[in-house]
Amino acid sequence: MSAKRHVARSYFADTVWDAAERRCLQRRLLRWFGGAARDLPWRRSRDPYAVWISEIMLQQTQVATVIPYFERFLRQFPDIATLAAAPESLVLRHWEGLGYYRRARQLHEAAKRLVGQHGGQFPRDVNQVRALPGIGRYTAGAILSIACDARLPILEANTVRLLSRLAGSREDPHTTAGQQRLWQMAESLLPNKNCGAFNKALMELGSLVCTPRQPRCDECPLRPHCRAFAARLQEQIPLAKTKPAVEDLRQAALVIRRGGRVLLWQWQPGERWAGLWDFPRLPSAAKPSQADLAALNDPLTARTGLATSQLKPSATTKNSVTRFRISLDCSHAFAFRGRLARKRSDLRFVRLTELDEYPLSTTGRKISRMIAR
Ligand code: SF4
Repeated sequence: MSAKRHVARSYFADTVWDAAERRCLQRRLLRWFGGAARDLPWRRSRDPYAVWISEIMLQQTQVATVIPYFERFLRQFPDIATLAAAPESLVLRHWEGLGYYRRARQLHEAAKRLVGQHGGQFPRDVNQVRALPGIGRYTAGAILSIACDARLPILEANTVRLLSRLAGSREDPHTTAGQQRLWQMAESLLPNKNCGAFNKALMELGSLVCTPRQPRCDECPLRPHCRAFAARLQEQIPLAKTKPAVEDLRQAALVIRRGGRVLLWQWQPGERWAGLWDFPRLPSAAKPSQADLAALNDPLTARTGLATSQLKPSATTKNSVTRFRISLDCSHAFAFRGRLARKRSDLRFVRLTELDEYPLSTTGRKISRMIAR
């Protein structure tokens, strides 16, 4: 039989490996994890609250980035009740720089629901957990298996890759059908106990050994069971996801001063940085200059009631947010006319010394540091 004939057509673990081989695979993986697991702060506790915070932070974010955020967050909000009682601005301030701020808002909302509906306790029932904002099948399975050893499967980027390779599956794992079959496979591979450790081990192996490019098959404890390795297809599996095209955006940020204060506005629900504060930021076609003040003033006036009359461009910063590559031209507006609409809680002149208390967008924080110098 040619090597490629080993490639599985079905993803049920019991059609790829017989029961004895599955038990062997489980034992090998758990043994490897016992010796190779990284000492990560969220692994020192089985408190579902701590596991939940870590799982939400780790979505779309690298482990090394998450560690200091996780430690600071748990110091500030050590339990569900403290998180629920905190103002949203404080939660966002502790999330600042992690990105994908919807995660923080949903976490906060879920904490309030846990206090209101579950007596401040994290439920053990998977349906109750999945009913919380921001928690899908993966997160519920990860929290309950890790914290309570519930027999629930997980599937995220690392395990999609690892399971696809183990089964030698050449189906696109990003389709609904492909995802369903991988979930079935994750479920049928679970041991009867130690499910939390098994799930963590799958993710760890995917992250450290079965990497997207050049997987380290020589060090892999599951190599004897891996159909992709047997068929020399590990570099072609899984099928790569088509990346959305990058879109370039140009924006202008205005530092509008009044005495020793600067104007901030708060992003509104439905906007990209909802809940965060920022220096007024407007779409612009080119670097702002005196000549095109009118183009900036129309949208600025519409939102704030103010218009600037003297502009001094300073720095340009670049950053990427999801599929957007944003060039942000910061300008100082030394004079303005008009007045802020009364009773607008989303517009404030703030002392430079108070900027640290506000949750700002990443570029907003850069600008605040620049003007504080
Ligand atoms: Fe991944 Fe290679 Fe291990 Fe297969 S043998 S699971 S491709 S690291």
